[in-house]
Amino acid sequence: MDLMRKMLALTLLLVVVPGVVMAESTIMVELGSKAAKTAMSELKFQKGDSNVLALTDAGHAIVDGQTTQKALKGIAEETGFSEADSNLFQVLRPNFKPLWFYFFNKATGEAVYMQVDGKSLNKSLDEFKALSNDQIFGKISKANVDLSYMMNHTDEGNATFGNSPFNGNEFSLISISNIWALPGATYDFLQATCFHDHLCPGVTSGYMLAKYVEEKLPITNPSAESYKVIAIPQWCKDDLLQLRWDATPGKSGMFLMALTDVEKNALKAKYNQSDVAGIYIRWNDTAKQGDALVLGFNWTPMYELTGTANWKGPAWASKLVMDVRMMDYWNRPEAAVSTLKEFKVDSNKLALLQNAGMHPLKVAGVL
Ligand SMILES: [Zn+2]
Repeated sequence: MDLMRKMLALTLLLVVVPGVVMAESTIMVELGSKAAKTAMSELKFQKGDSNVLALTDAGHAIVDGQTTQKALKGIAEETGFSEADSNLFQVLRPNFKPLWFYFFNKATGEAVYMQVDGKSLNKSLDEFKALSNDQIFGKISKANVDLSYMMNHTDEGNATFGNSPFNGNEFSLISISNIWALPGATYDFLQATCFHDHLCPGVTSGYMLAKYVEEKLPITNPSAESYKVIAIPQWCKDDLLQLRWDATPGKSGMFLMALTDVEKNALKAKYNQSDVAGIYIRWNDTAKQGDALVLGFNWTPMYELTGTANWKGPAWASKLVMDVRMMDYWNRPEAAVSTLKEFKVDSNKLALLQNAGMHPLKVAGVL
């Protein structure tokens, strides 16, 4: 290739590539906008309605190699919603799952779910704009997902949880919607819930454990101190802790290990029916020492206090009822959390707690 041809190729590349990127982004914006308009007509709301929540996996889903975050712009432009106002959240999903949009109107309890047919995006902007909603969204379904409504209309609740109108996302979307709708819902909790995928009592236990640790072992020197979690055994709580404290496994903030059922039962018997919920360390990286708590989480009082101990209602409702009623204990973690053991940690002990082949609960002397 001579110089002229090289330059011509380069010029063509510069002209064509940004054009392609721009066209794709514009379709994504248009897609978000179409989803929002569809929801506004299905759920009968106007721009800026504070009764409505929008959830989506846009930004996480990747469709045909295309990232999807620009759809958020379309939703924001049509509805005025934003994460800053806690009414537009991105729910974590793997990149290979379908792209969807979901809106919930707490004034009516109605929700609408729209799942994108990826084929509709391989078009020019004009072609895309000409598509009908049914061509863009392979699935559009509505249901009343208000917990009280569903409890009073169990046939509808059974259908919503039995017929997968939201393509398997029912518990995820309905759990988040019902807590979001309550006045006590906090941004930090909703944010962690969206990271976890759904709102289960396990995430709530993480919120209570976090508050307990933050009270007993407060961070007083943020430039030197951090929380490290030996998540043994792991459960939903650990996703909240990871996000809240930036205690990610990749940065050695969290180490996860399972326990056998035999070990779990032995620990429960030893610690007054509490489940061991892990080892929580406030580590000072300058002094190379820290304080550790082995914590227990006792589910028995949680079942009793939330009226779910001998649940007779529909199977899909017990976790949702627990989610709602456990809100009363968000700031009263002592109702379920207790210290099983306290000890000091130095670099050697920290290594023993973290290394493969060691049993952290034996290192801590609780098993
Ligand atoms: Zn969970």
